[in-house]
Amino acid sequence: MTNLSVPAHDLFELHNLPYGVYSVPGQTPRVATRYGDQVVDLAILLGDDTFAQPSLNAFMGQGHDRWVAVRAEITEALRGDVPEAAVHDLGEVTLHLPFEVADYVDFYASEHHASNLGRLFRPGNPDPLMPNWKHLPVGYHGRSASIVVSGADIVRPWGQRKGPRDPAPLFGPSARLDIEAELGFVVGTGNPMGKPIPVEEADRHIFGVVLFNDWSARDIQAWEYVPLGPNLGKSFASTISPWVVPLLALDAARVATPAQEPAVLPYLALAHPWGLDVSLEVEWNGEIVLRPPYAAMYWSPAQMLAHLTVNGAPTRTGDLFASGTISGPEKHQRGAFIELTWGGAEPVVVAGAERTFLQDGDEVVLRATAPGAGGTTVGFGEARGRIVDTKQED
Ligand code: MN
Repeated sequence: MTNLSVPAHDLFELHNLPYGVYSVPGQTPRVATRYGDQVVDLAILLGDDTFAQPSLNAFMGQGHDRWVAVRAEITEALRGDVPEAAVHDLGEVTLHLPFEVADYVDFYASEHHASNLGRLFRPGNPDPLMPNWKHLPVGYHGRSASIVVSGADIVRPWGQRKGPRDPAPLFGPSARLDIEAELGFVVGTGNPMGKPIPVEEADRHIFGVVLFNDWSARDIQAWEYVPLGPNLGKSFASTISPWVVPLLALDAARVATPAQEPAVLPYLALAHPWGLDVSLEVEWNGEIVLRPPYAAMYWSPAQMLAHLTVNGAPTRTGDLFASGTISGPEKHQRGAFIELTWGGAEPVVVAGAERTFLQDGDEVVLRATAPGAGGTTVGFGEARGRIVDTKQED
C-alpha cells in the first residue's frame, strides 16, 4: 500500500478527479482517475468491476446518484492507503478515447463566433446573425466515428472547393484547414424517444466535459454548406481530451449566461441560466495564440440538451454535444483561425513564421482551466493534434 500526495494548487487535486481510460503495455484498457501526475486504476482502488472496462459507458449509464456516490468513494479512498498496483505515472501509460461516442451533435452557441462567421461567409448582409439564432441553439449532426483522442494525427482532408474566382469546382487537399476551440458535453444518461429532457433536469443527464477541437476545412465547408449545413468540411476528424471532467467538479465554475434578449421560449427558459467559467488557450506550434472564454457563450449546455431532445429525439449514454467555436469579443479571444486571420486576409506570425490556415506538420493544443471548489483550479488536460499529409493518389 502507498500514500499518495499531490502538490498544493495542482490542477488535478481531489477537487477535480476526472475520468479516463488508460493502458500499460500488455494490459487491456481500463477506467482510471487522474490525481496529480498519477493515474489511479478505479477497479483496483474501489474493488468495482464496473471500471475494469475499456470505456466509461457502463459507469455513466448508472446515473447521477451513482456518479455522486463514486466521487465521494474515490475521494475517501485516495485519502487513505492506496494499493500500489492501482497507481501509474502519467508518463508511463497510454490514454485512450474515454468513452464510446454514441451520437454527436455540434452547436453554434457563441454569438461572437456566429457574428464573425456571418460577416465572413455572407458579406454585405446587414445582420450577421440569421433570424433564428437568438431563438434556438443552432446545430448539426456530426460523425461520431471521426472523434479521436488527443495525440492522434489529423490527415489533411481532400474534397471539392470552389472559390469566388474559380470557374468550376476543384478537387484536392483542403487549402484552408482550421481549428475550432470548443467544449464537448458527454451525456451520461439519455432519454427515451418521445420524452424530451426538461431544461432544468439537463444537468442530471450531463456526465462531464471534454476539450473539443472541431478541425474544419473552410474551403470544403464554404462550397458545400448551402442549404443543408456542414458535412465533409467537418466530418473527417475532431479531437477530444482524454480526461472527462465531471460536471460535479464544476459547481464553482457555474456563471450566469449573458442576458438572452429576446426572451427564449419556455422549454429553453431556466430560472438561472448557467454557463461555465472555463478559460481556454490555443497553442499553435508551441505559441499560445488565442484565449477563448467559455463564460461568454450565449446558449447554455442545459439549453442545448433540452433543444436537442425537444422534438422527442432520443439520446443515449455516450452521446456527445459540442458547444461550437468559443469566441469572445476581443481578437485574441477568438476560437478559430478563420476569425483570427479574418478569412486569411490578415496573416499572423506564429512561432516566427507567417500563417493563415494550418500547414502540414503544424501542431495545435487546446488546454483549459476553471475555478474549482474552495478556491482551487480545475485542469482539463489537453487536446493535441498534428496535421499530416497523405497523397490520396498513392
Ligand atoms: Mn464546430
